[in-house]
This record gives sequence, structure tokens and C-alpha cells, in this order.
Amino acid sequence: MKTLVLDLDETLVRSQFTEPEKYDLLLPVRLDNRSYQVYVQVRPGTAEFLEEMAKCYELVIFTASLSKYANPLMDILDPERYCTGRLFREHCVYADRVYMKDMAQLGRRIEDVILIDNSPNSYRPQPENAIPILSWYDDPDDTELWKITPLLRNLARVEDVRSVLGNVHENHEMDLEKAERMAEQLRRDYELRLLTKAKTKGQRPSNLNSSDFDLNDRTSEMDLMKIMD
Ligand SMILES: [Mg+2]
Repeated sequence: MKTLVLDLDETLVRSQFTEPEKYDLLLPVRLDNRSYQVYVQVRPGTAEFLEEMAKCYELVIFTASLSKYANPLMDILDPERYCTGRLFREHCVYADRVYMKDMAQLGRRIEDVILIDNSPNSYRPQPENAIPILSWYDDPDDTELWKITPLLRNLARVEDVRSVLGNVHENHEMDLEKAERMAEQLRRDYELRLLTKAKTKGQRPSNLNSSDFDLNDRTSEMDLMKIMD
């Protein structure tokens, strides 16, 4: 199974200390012995997106925010625990005054990792593994998560996500149509190769399902040890 890494702020939620007109959650956060109320708005489609994506990816939240805020927020935002891993500011690489997210440190095959993030600095180490997403502030009609769902379903079944994602963004904007076309083609190619392989082995491939494409060469256990060091 591939790993889908999700940014939190302005990708799935918008959080602020001042009360907006509308908000979805109120989160008490304690920082430096002071209590704060954080007003959280949730991007449309977030709950469905997590549920859908958990069917074909290992989901990991990776935020440059503090765990004191992000951990309790994720407890509320993801009660079903679709996201099996959580990474915070201390797991980022800090350089040039920005926080970057280095996918090479995840302990996963790099060809199996996708990072969805609204901030180009986050995916600076591996832009070819990234899906840039528009920053979300409060637009109730936003559909970005739904828009990228078909692409992600195909990417879950290609050999190397970089062969698509490395060719479809320019100036931090993704050509979604091109990405969808490429991902679908590569997914078909890959399925055909698996089918041919199965045939030459003399097996009769029954109905292929997603588990046929799982790469069983690593543990399914959450192993983010590398980055936790
Ligand atoms: Mg962000």
C-alpha cells in the first residue's frame, strides 16, 4: 500500500485565535502555561476524503504546527483514526527559515509516497512526490479534495508516483487533467504487466482487486522510526 501524507493547516483546516463568523470546532490549547481557544474551520469534504483515501492508502498527517495543537485537533477531526501516523514540527527540516517535509525520512519507498500540501516550501525536498493544493481559508464551496480523488485512486495503483507527479506541475500549480490522463494510463500499464506476469506463471488471474497491487515487501506496521529519531 502506498502512503499518502497530508498537510493540516490550509489543506484540511483553517485555525485561528480570533473568532471567525463561522467555525466548526473550538479547541482549547495550552501553550507556555497559558490557555488559548483555537477556532477551527474544516475544509469541505475532509471527512469523506479521509474515509475514501484510507481504503487505498496508508494515511499520515504531517504538519509544521506544534503537536500540542495538532494532536488534540486530529483526535476530533479523525475519530475513526483513518490517519495512522502523525508527524509535527519537530519532524520537519528547518532551513532557509522555512519548515520542509522530507519524504525520504519516512521509512517508506520514495516511489510510494505522496505529499498533499498547500505550501511549496513543504515539498521543496521532493517536488516530484507532491500534489500542490490551493490554500483553503473559508470558502464553503471549495471542491479541491473531491477534484483530486479520482487522480489519487489511480495513483494508488501505479508503479512510481513520481512518473506522474514529476511531470505535471509548474509554478506550484498542477495540470490536473494531464495528471489524471497519465495516472490512468500508467495504472492500466501496471495492471496489464501484473496480469501478464500472472499468466506466464500459469496462474489464472481471477478478478483483480486492489490487494493484488499491494507491495508486500515491507511491513504493514506503522514504522516511522527513521523520522522519529
Ligand atoms: Mg499548510
